[in-house]
Amino acid sequence: MGVIDLRSDTVTQPTVRMREAMRDASVGDDVLGDDPTVQKLERLAVDKLGTEAAIFVPSGTMGNLVSAMVHCPRGSEVILGDKAHMFVYEAGGMSAAGGIQPHTIPNQADGTLRLEDIEHAVRAENVHFPRTRLICLENTQNKCGGRVLRPEYCWEVREIADKHALKMHLDGARVYNAAVALGIDVRELAEPFDSVSVCLSKGLSAPVGSVVCGRKDFVYEARRARKLLGGGMRQAGVLAAAGIVALEDMVDRLSEDHANAKELARGLAETGMFSLDAEAVETNIVYFDLAMDKIGADELVAKMAERGVLFLALGPGRFRMVTHCGISAGDVETALDVLGGVAGELQ
Ligand SMILES: *Cc1c(COP(=O)(O)O)cnc(C)c1O
Repeated sequence: MGVIDLRSDTVTQPTVRMREAMRDASVGDDVLGDDPTVQKLERLAVDKLGTEAAIFVPSGTMGNLVSAMVHCPRGSEVILGDKAHMFVYEAGGMSAAGGIQPHTIPNQADGTLRLEDIEHAVRAENVHFPRTRLICLENTQNKCGGRVLRPEYCWEVREIADKHALKMHLDGARVYNAAVALGIDVRELAEPFDSVSVCLSKGLSAPVGSVVCGRKDFVYEARRARKLLGGGMRQAGVLAAAGIVALEDMVDRLSEDHANAKELARGLAETGMFSLDAEAVETNIVYFDLAMDKIGADELVAKMAERGVLFLALGPGRFRMVTHCGISAGDVETALDVLGGVAGELQ
């Protein structure tokens, strides 16, 4: 029996069509502007996201960093959530490489930042203060459990940004999960922002890469920042080819991952071993907490791994499972059965 890998949607393998597209891709030196497949991916991203321009970057981390560096001069400040990927999981890149200071405010359980918290975090003009330049939101909000931000909310944040002449960046690593969950065009989720970074290598299953979308002048500067960070890639069309298939083939099926995640959450709740709000699962990410002391978190993860079910312990007594195209409804059932078996041994 194969391993059921629920650690992340980044474990997804390139599809057969992706492998073929990679093999057959026409390529050139993209740093010299010669790669037709990269250009095709960038045009496709423009078309899908509804922005003026787009740029292919090696990772979501670089997409976010490039965006922050374009929007923010050194010594300026970014307002973002304390559970933001950009704050927690990107090795402090915006400070280390961009000289940009993060100003965190609490993410609410639904992934949002309170409007009054954002308003209070904006610095007044004063010689003592850093200058606020950017607000970052994340959709879906990973660490809050894949929560979905609605366009209406993003427009409310936009009003604050406009009032203070701030830019807005969306860490849209999983913005397609949000669009599919809401049943709306992804353009509606991109529109309130000056820049949007979208991962092709998460649930969309491409092996490598993200696209960053925005206005032409923004993307021009992003190209410089990408070069500065060492992200200029030569015959990158072999990677972009898989990204094109990701955007064409892999979006609509995300609803299956959401259905499987909901089923998984309901099953986890039924074991009585964990505390979680199964109703709060909106997309493909399930966070849950250990609610028994018969077993430790790392021990449970290890026991499950021995039995072929992989997931992550993230923080004391806290776990994460993520569904993706490598996980079927049957796999969810199997994973819950295996968990039931482990629970039985603890009685
Ligand atoms: C994965 C992820 C990123 C970064 O993407 P990498 O390609 O792994 O660098 C950024 N933001 C969020 C919310 C993510 O989940």
